[in-house]
Amino acid sequence: MTARKKPAARRAARAGGTSARRRVFFFGDGRADGRAEMREVLGGKGANLAEMTRLGVPVPPGFTISTEVCAEFNRAGRRLPAAVKKDALAALARVERVMGMRFGDAERPLLVSVRSGARASMPGMMDSVLNLGLNDRTVVGLAKLADERFAYDSYRRFVQMFGDVVLEIPHKLFEQRLEALKDVRGADLDTELTASDLRGLVRDYLEIVEEQTGTPFPQDPAEQLWAAVAAVFRSWENERAVRYRRIHGIPALWGTAVNVQAMVFGNMGDECATGVAFTRDPSTGDRHFYGEYLKNAQGEDVVAGIRTPQPINKVSRKEDSARLPTLEEEMPRAYRELVRIYKRLEKHYRDMQDIEFTIQNGKLWMLQTRTGKRTTHAAVKIAVDMAREGLITREEAVRRVAPESLDQLLHPMLDPEAPRQVVAKGLPASPGAAVGRIVFSADDAEARAKAGEKVVLVRIETSPDDIHGMHAAEGILTARGGMTSHAAVVARGMGKCCVAGCGTLRIDYAKGEMQVNGHAFKAGDTITLDGSRGEVLAGAVPTVTPELGGAFSELMRWADRLRRVRVRTNADTPHDAKIAREFGAEGIGLCRTEHMFFEPNRILAVREMILASDGAARERALAKLLPMQRGDFAGIFRAMAGLPVTIRLLDPPLHEFLPHGEEEIREVVQALGTDAAVVRAKLEEVKEFNPMLGHRGCRLGITYPEIYRMQVRAIFEAACEVAESGVKVQPEIMLPLIAHVGELQRLRALIEAEIAEARKAHPQPRVKVTIGTMIEVPRAALTAAEISRYADFFSFGTNDLTQTAYALSRDDAGKFLPEYMEQGILADDPFVSIDEEGIGKLMRIATLSGRTTRPGLKVGICGEHGGDAKSIRFCAGLGFDYVSCSPFRVPVARLAAAQAEIELAGERRATRRGKRRS
Ligand code: ADP
Ligand code: MG
Ligand code: MG
Repeated sequence: MTARKKPAARRAARAGGTSARRRVFFFGDGRADGRAEMREVLGGKGANLAEMTRLGVPVPPGFTISTEVCAEFNRAGRRLPAAVKKDALAALARVERVMGMRFGDAERPLLVSVRSGARASMPGMMDSVLNLGLNDRTVVGLAKLADERFAYDSYRRFVQMFGDVVLEIPHKLFEQRLEALKDVRGADLDTELTASDLRGLVRDYLEIVEEQTGTPFPQDPAEQLWAAVAAVFRSWENERAVRYRRIHGIPALWGTAVNVQAMVFGNMGDECATGVAFTRDPSTGDRHFYGEYLKNAQGEDVVAGIRTPQPINKVSRKEDSARLPTLEEEMPRAYRELVRIYKRLEKHYRDMQDIEFTIQNGKLWMLQTRTGKRTTHAAVKIAVDMAREGLITREEAVRRVAPESLDQLLHPMLDPEAPRQVVAKGLPASPGAAVGRIVFSADDAEARAKAGEKVVLVRIETSPDDIHGMHAAEGILTARGGMTSHAAVVARGMGKCCVAGCGTLRIDYAKGEMQVNGHAFKAGDTITLDGSRGEVLAGAVPTVTPELGGAFSELMRWADRLRRVRVRTNADTPHDAKIAREFGAEGIGLCRTEHMFFEPNRILAVREMILASDGAARERALAKLLPMQRGDFAGIFRAMAGLPVTIRLLDPPLHEFLPHGEEEIREVVQALGTDAAVVRAKLEEVKEFNPMLGHRGCRLGITYPEIYRMQVRAIFEAACEVAESGVKVQPEIMLPLIAHVGELQRLRALIEAEIAEARKAHPQPRVKVTIGTMIEVPRAALTAAEISRYADFFSFGTNDLTQTAYALSRDDAGKFLPEYMEQGILADDPFVSIDEEGIGKLMRIATLSGRTTRPGLKVGICGEHGGDAKSIRFCAGLGFDYVSCSPFRVPVARLAAAQAEIELAGERRATRRGKRRS
């Protein structure tokens, strides 16, 4: 490291930098100051432009102004430090030498693009300006070098982009003028406009600028450059960027870099083109080169969906481009070169790349490479394939897939059996299914989703201004744009279903209507999208859970081999238990018995039990419940065939079971043979001021021991019954809300006595029952050393532990907690990810002191957090034996546990190395 630093510092000194720290990084002609690892300083785009240059890939020369300058700029009242300007001019001179052209020169004018590029890729968030350096003089020189039409086409693009991005003139004003001109000329496409049309258009555009800003368009290229650089830095603070950062958790501190790069032209004629491609299919993960291009076009034309892009090769053909020729056919030499480069890049970066290229008169130039966004389906497939190809290790493959994203694979797709009324077809831009009500604006989508409605966002096309609406919607439908359009790319990144480029849609925003193939839909009508087929269906189509196989199973097998923490599920019914086992659950960590009490045919017996006037009456009611509970438990033991099953004894406050309203009261009165007044008096009696801290949990067992005795008996008898049929059982009885060792000591004795009693009738030696407790009250965590004397296991109930230790009601937190996140007091919702400093500290204390008293103490977690990747990482670090989560989160937890283990192993290695050194 130190050996490398010295020459860099020397180079910086040579470059005349005033500070030792380089802030302007040149790349070009096979040499670069930066490299791929420097994305913090150079941003993703800049770091990769430098890396590609080093690799010998043809990249137009340029330089990157570092992300640190962004902060300096915004701190210094939005001014570029003079030293940075000086370094930038020196770098620009090097670019001029490589290109053999001069910036602002009337004969051979060098044009540049000014491009933003943050550390994390923020697609479309920051705007770039192309063709900078053009003015009334240089455009003449450019026309002489190439041709006039091209020169003015470039100039009008530049004035519009500069006007929009730098001067903040609404781009509508320019577009209207262009559309009007096309109408007059009867032209469908802008490529049909002539040189003199475009010259006229430029004049119009320059006028618009002067009208809007009160000053003429800046003709001095240097002035243009500094203004554009400043605009990029400024755009880090624009509303879209801020919103995107908030959604994706990107710190505002990071800043963006600015890349200034010599222009190459895809709009010089029919031997020119511009395109985007993925080194593997971003929606399926299939191993083939996939992309789109436009002839005689520049920059964003492909993504903007102005014309239908052509496929780069046969496998990239989609319905709407089926008849168009491919790049492979039209420009075979450039295509072969592109193939050579994409293979090189994929091998070098060891991941699927998303690349931008431009072909100028048959010569290929690379303008960007980055790790490509992909669907989860593709992410899994690519990771597994790459490990098999030997490009990455299995461990790396496991690390590559974000656990949370697996959710997407586990969630429903359209029922293939269901009748489907397809009203339109578009591109299968992002797979999955979405059912919802139509909304035509991002703001409506957000508002209605907040009100709990499921919506589908329908737009002519989407732009970065729509991000919040896309986030809120179930799915996205657009009329325009290809597979690499904004809507498609963003939806895939979000894991949302998207049908793009559905050309037959006629959307009328003003009326809030859309027409499609003779069907009319209004805002609020329900539609269904099939993102895998690109279909739009009328009404709501039922969905089913997809089969998981192939690459997914393989990746999960690798994950299972790497992890140490076991993954159980929270399941209350044999049905849930079965789903969870299919997802790979290794036991039940929490079976709530009260859910069984709510079944319509049982609730009456439960009410009878609660309202009973004396012990004997209560016993009678319990006797009715016993066989029902026994049946439930037997079903679950069978479904889990030999895996551990933790059953929690009755937990909720009794009032939750009580009759509400006259109808229910009448039923209870009849069943009990008493009168309504008695029942009402009893209802009054069990009413509590603060039920969550009231008569609930193990307190019920202390005051009504017969309830717990019945449950224990049901558990034990069910276990014996199943064991006798030859299926192994591992029942674990768990007590809720223990706060004091005295509670556990008494209840443990009660459970043991009941089992001993029941054993007389069932001398089943194979049934061993362990007894443990939830840790969900701070006092229990703090006195864990005493409590563990009577517990075979601890299971952290982190929902209640968070509520009780934080004095934070989960049901009421929604009103103020978002504000805490907004203000930056909290980074995460403590009900989603464990609050490590606070609640986590209690967990650490409890685990350590519990295991001090009882070394083999089994420790797990059964709160909602058991399915949250970050919390799983924390639990693994504490040495937990298992986590337990809802059935659909099981694969998420398996993967997260494997990643946690890989991380922990890395940390252990680092500590060992540190120790050896000291
Ligand atoms: P984004 O981050 O929005 O993709 P980019 O900076 O990559 O913005 O640029 C937008 C478009 O302009 C891309 O299609 C890119 O390939 C193209 N482009 C950028 N710089 C140049 C250049 N120097 N020559 C030709 N095309 C360029
Ligand atoms: Mg780009
Ligand atoms: Mg609880």
